[in-house]
Amino acid sequence: MIRVVIGSRNKKKLKEMVALLGDLNLEFTDLTPYPDAPEVEETAETFVGNATLKATQLAPVLGAWVIGEDSGLCVPALGGAPGVYSARYAGAHGDDQANNDKLLREMAHLEGDARAAYYVSTAVLADPAGNVVASVEGRCHGVIVTERRGAGGFGYDPLFLVPEYGQTFGELPPEVKQRMSHRAKAFADLRPALEELARR
Ligand code: IMP
Repeated sequence: MIRVVIGSRNKKKLKEMVALLGDLNLEFTDLTPYPDAPEVEETAETFVGNATLKATQLAPVLGAWVIGEDSGLCVPALGGAPGVYSARYAGAHGDDQANNDKLLREMAHLEGDARAAYYVSTAVLADPAGNVVASVEGRCHGVIVTERRGAGGFGYDPLFLVPEYGQTFGELPPEVKQRMSHRAKAFADLRPALEELARR
């Protein structure tokens, strides 16, 4: 069975991917079996740029098919911020508490449509030689509420309200998020390329 590595140490990303693509005849893993895998620096200014860096740099080192995924939250009224800097918006990488506090501060003067936001997920599949085989993007639209709601999900989820449900990703059951999220849409678009790989 061909192994496909998601170039991430985020267990939640692997879980979401397996929930969506686990039925394919492929062995999915994250970087856990590769403790020596290099840390790829996200130096690009676009999601697709960073996802491409991850996939194309890791694949030849691991000698495996790799999916590089980069994601984040964009607020058009803030010029697209936090964007590619979502994980380190307030400075320290991955400090969700501080990132959410900063987002609330930056948006304190915004009302109505100006509070619109969307999550983006870009996924790039590279072959073991490091060639890009597929590149996809998924988006999920919502609104940033004025205080945290719910304890589910991660990152900006307690602030991200999904209008169809009137609840944030922090409040909604994980199955609902997994069905409609930016990553679900990106991984669904990646399915044809992975189906072809599973047939080899
Ligand atoms: P990455 O790991 O470099 O892709 O950074 C993703 C960052 O974007 C995370 O640290 C979060 O701040 C934000 N983000 C991406 N996807 C989600 C999501 O599904 N929920 C909440 N925050 C997310």
